Amino acid sequence: MNKVDHIGIAVSSIDHVLPFYEQTLGLNVMKIEEVETEGVKVAFIDGGNIKLELLEPLHNESPIAKFIEKKGEGIHHVAFGVEGIDQRINELREKGVNMINETAKPGAGGAMVAFMHPKSSHGVLYELCDKSNIREDLS
Ligand code: ZN
Repeated sequence: MNKVDHIGIAVSSIDHVLPFYEQTLGLNVMKIEEVETEGVKVAFIDGGNIKLELLEPLHNESPIAKFIEKKGEGIHHVAFGVEGIDQRINELREKGVNMINETAKPGAGGAMVAFMHPKSSHGVLYELCDKSNIREDLS
């Protein structure tokens, strides 16, 4: 893994939490977008050496809606930046890691992403995030 790219944080409402990040913490929003395939609205916050990815469910079937229902708002996942995501997925599977996504799929910001099953990673939901296909990288 190259580095930690971002930390995903589940929130009920981005509009509701932005004053905390912007005014209370003094951080800047990089961009806000909707990822229809995941059923989420996403706000990227510039945390200096790392980004915070605020995830708001767009509907009740969203995995983020189910997460908030079960555990409440809070840290949802940690994302490692990788290159050659398909190769990384195969390497992890060969080492016995159970992947939620056995092939990479499009995620926020045009990155290709895949999640490891938390049962294989000691309770942490880890994301692999490959941005090598994107020309303009916000990081
Ligand atoms: Zn993420």
